[in-house]
Amino acid sequence: MSMGKRLETGNLRWRLTVWYGSVFALLLLVYVSVASVLHYYQLKAHAFHDEIEDIEAAEGLLYEAADGTVHFNEQYFNQPEMPFRLERLLEIFDEDGQVLARNARLGTRSIDGPLLPDEGRKSYNERFGWLSDGRRVFVISHIHRVQKRVVILRMAYEAEPVFASLRSFVLSLLALVPAAILIAGFFVYRITQSALAPLSSMVHRAKVITAAQLNERLPVGDQEDELAATARAFNDLLARLEASFAQLRRFTADASHELRTPLSSLRSMGEVCLQKRRSAEEYRDTIGSMLEEVRRLTQLVESLLQIARADSGQIALQFEVAELGAVLDEAVAVVEILAEEKQQAIEVHCAAELWARIDRGILRQVLVNIIDNAIKYSPAGASIRVRAAAEGERTATICIADQGPGIARADQARIFDRFYRTDEGRSTGAGGYGLGLAIAKWGVDVHQGSIELDPASTEGACFCIRLPRADAPQREG
Ligand code: ADP
Repeated sequence: MSMGKRLETGNLRWRLTVWYGSVFALLLLVYVSVASVLHYYQLKAHAFHDEIEDIEAAEGLLYEAADGTVHFNEQYFNQPEMPFRLERLLEIFDEDGQVLARNARLGTRSIDGPLLPDEGRKSYNERFGWLSDGRRVFVISHIHRVQKRVVILRMAYEAEPVFASLRSFVLSLLALVPAAILIAGFFVYRITQSALAPLSSMVHRAKVITAAQLNERLPVGDQEDELAATARAFNDLLARLEASFAQLRRFTADASHELRTPLSSLRSMGEVCLQKRRSAEEYRDTIGSMLEEVRRLTQLVESLLQIARADSGQIALQFEVAELGAVLDEAVAVVEILAEEKQQAIEVHCAAELWARIDRGILRQVLVNIIDNAIKYSPAGASIRVRAAAEGERTATICIADQGPGIARADQARIFDRFYRTDEGRSTGAGGYGLGLAIAKWGVDVHQGSIELDPASTEGACFCIRLPRADAPQREG
């Protein structure tokens, strides 16, 4: 178990650690590069600064010999306590660019080629140059007057010590990088371990949840973080699944139950009939009753099929903008014969120009189911009122009121549930299987409408359907 646990989060943890390590390494390298460049400029500035001080000191040590040659009193600097100055390389030019003197350390080498125009006159011309033997140097130049002669001094410091110092600076920083990455990686790995621990326990728990245990829930951490939100979202999903599964189970159980009753009644009718010889009249009666039962069974199976198709979204809806009055008339025409059998009157009252975007077949069936109930549950001779009117700007309301026993308050909340029948509905032989209103509710829902009982109704039941209205289609001509 713990092995599995490690494997599930291991990948993520490693990925996070590697990502973090790479980004951290990149940042460190950027940091080392920037620090090295800054350090190099600092060292260079330092070298030039020393060189400028040095050239000014050196100028004081120039003298012109009696024979007109220029010399440099190097002795002054040759003290062991001035090691850097001992590295100094010095070259002296006259105004025409002729070399007048070189210090002993420079010997026969020259600094950075011939004299440049205006060199050392306006500034120290700090630059990077090469000795004639190829060594890199920091060069500065300066003009100076020795007695009456104008000379140009070029001074050079070898760059190699500066580069060596820079190299050791960069290397010491780089040497720390792997250690820093390892330490940071280790901490990230440990931190992600504890941060992802709730995720592991969620995975662990989720693995044991099956359709039979949908009441299980994932652990929600104490902290209000993304993981807690994830666990809560999963729990909500589980709750919805649990409700759907429970509904499905109930539906299957109810459907089987409803199918069993007429089937066993069919069988017993047949068995009783076959027990002894009967007259043709009796056979005809029995077959008639059996056919009636088969008709009811067929109706039930059709309703079940429709609900199953609706649940799986298999019913292709075909919406059109239609006048509600016309659809009402069509629905009434279907059930009129049933009302006539009970000497009931159906009064239809529909406001003109009431348009809605509907699937004609489905809305007709919704209306048929409700008017059919009104006929079934109202006594003979009763009248059923169907009214359609506009309600505000955007809604159309269709109310179907009957003169039956009405629906008790306790039943009102469940009346649209599948297979739900009130005791009244059960006891009346006319009652169906409790699917008519469930189908009607689905039919109204697909129209983004609503269906409810009018609580103000004092006589019988009054069902009100509300549908969004549509603009009348443009008529041609
Ligand atoms: P059924 O096919 O049994 O009529 P419905 O889904 O259409 O199923 O209705 C569910 C139950 O609601 C019915 O069994 C009945 O008890 C009650 N009911 C529906 N319409 C009416 C009504 N107009 N008057 C009284 N009771 C009604």
